Amino acid sequence: MDVLIIGGGATGASAAWQLSERDDVDVTLCEQGGNVGHGSTPRAAGGIRSMYSTPVHVELSKLAIETWQTFEEDYGVEVDYKNTGYLFGVTNRTQYEQLRQDVWVQNNHGVPTELLDPEAASEHLDGLDTDRYMAVAWNPMDGFADPHAALMAYTRLARENGAQILTDHEVTDLRQDPTGRVRGVEVNGGEKELDADYVVNAAGPWGHRVAAMADVEIPITPKKRHGAMVEPERQVPTDAPLHIDLDSGVYYRPWDEEQALLGGHFQPDDPTVDPDDPNSYEDTTDMDWAAAAMEAAAETADYFGMDTRIVRGWSGVYAITPSNHPIIEESVPGFVNDVGHSGRAFMQSPATGRIVTEIVTEGEAKSVDTTALRTDDGKDTRGMLPIPYTADMYD
Ligand SMILES: Cc1cc2nc3c(=O)[nH]c(=O)nc-3n(C[C@H](O)[C@H](O)[C@H](O)COP(=O)(O)OP(=O)(O)OC[C@H]3O[C@@H](n4cnc5c(N)ncnc54)[C@H](O)[C@@H]3O)c2cc1C
Repeated sequence: MDVLIIGGGATGASAAWQLSERDDVDVTLCEQGGNVGHGSTPRAAGGIRSMYSTPVHVELSKLAIETWQTFEEDYGVEVDYKNTGYLFGVTNRTQYEQLRQDVWVQNNHGVPTELLDPEAASEHLDGLDTDRYMAVAWNPMDGFADPHAALMAYTRLARENGAQILTDHEVTDLRQDPTGRVRGVEVNGGEKELDADYVVNAAGPWGHRVAAMADVEIPITPKKRHGAMVEPERQVPTDAPLHIDLDSGVYYRPWDEEQALLGGHFQPDDPTVDPDDPNSYEDTTDMDWAAAAMEAAAETADYFGMDTRIVRGWSGVYAITPSNHPIIEESVPGFVNDVGHSGRAFMQSPATGRIVTEIVTEGEAKSVDTTALRTDDGKDTRGMLPIPYTADMYD
């Protein structure tokens, strides 16, 4: 069968790679930009974690981590994968109770997260401010990798399997037969038409626009998120875990011998990027954001302070749904949505690519129960349902 994927980010490229592993599938990926990675994938911090609050995200991450752990060895690629673990620090009782519940969910799904006192946590991150935290969750399964390198690896493997990766190919319409089944796409305003048995929408923050081409209304809001590379005053050890402070939302991880990567979201109003043009946001270093991030980081550990130097900054877009779950479903016959991944598409891409492959080739997801990833006819009511469908706490 012919499968056409829209979007050359981690989501689309992983699906292209995994579908192309099948002898009976011919894959074409269309990317509107002049190169893959035109969207947010190369802007991600590279964090890979299974510390979520809902079963579906814990399971997706577990499945993805299985691939990450041996990806380089199994496929001869380099993605700079490091299994350093993750720390989540909480400062008050309300956060503590939530974290305790989340750790319970994670443990119930076979994830070995432990709730530590701050002293014990500082054995994993020696600069941690132990006075600040009430408790810290530690997960040794987690880590990080290089999103750009992973994207290159996926596309290289897909090409080696015979997939076509077409850049400067903007899908401008979907072609449907009289029964409504999606049968292909129109590219660059009608310059070209490509037939397909399945079309996969992996257009990230443009996902709702692509879905609308099949008259499917899905709730995706593009939100701007920042990152920065800094030179801390004291080096964050290169084998240190990624640390998230759940009070301020700041997170950081080592980058190399000198630099650390800093991220987080601090503006309470959280303005939306123009949904008609998710690329329209200004990709400059926002100094107010950088100052807030630095200040927040300095409160968590002794690596950061007044003399920390900002080396560079950037921003990208999260594609967010109301329940904070992605949408992975065959919304119209022949048309699979794989969008709304918020801050997780990179880390979970090995799993989502596999699930899309299962939906296309076997008619349904087999590896993970994806009921919570389906909408109710385009409406995202999942956040209002009880666990396991309730909104995930962490984006
Ligand atoms: C600062 C920051 C830090 C982050 N940190 C992490 C992290 O630690 N871990 C993690 O997992 N995630 C993280 N993320 C989130 C992650 O970057 C996104 O979830 C991920 O990149 C989305 O991947 P995607 O492939 O779904 O979308 P994208 O990478 O945005 O790709 C979508 C692609 O579709 C193409 N496209 C759109 N419309 C069309 C069309 N009509 N025709 C053809 N092509 C089209 C676009 O050009 C784009 O290349 C972070 C994001 C930011 C901004």
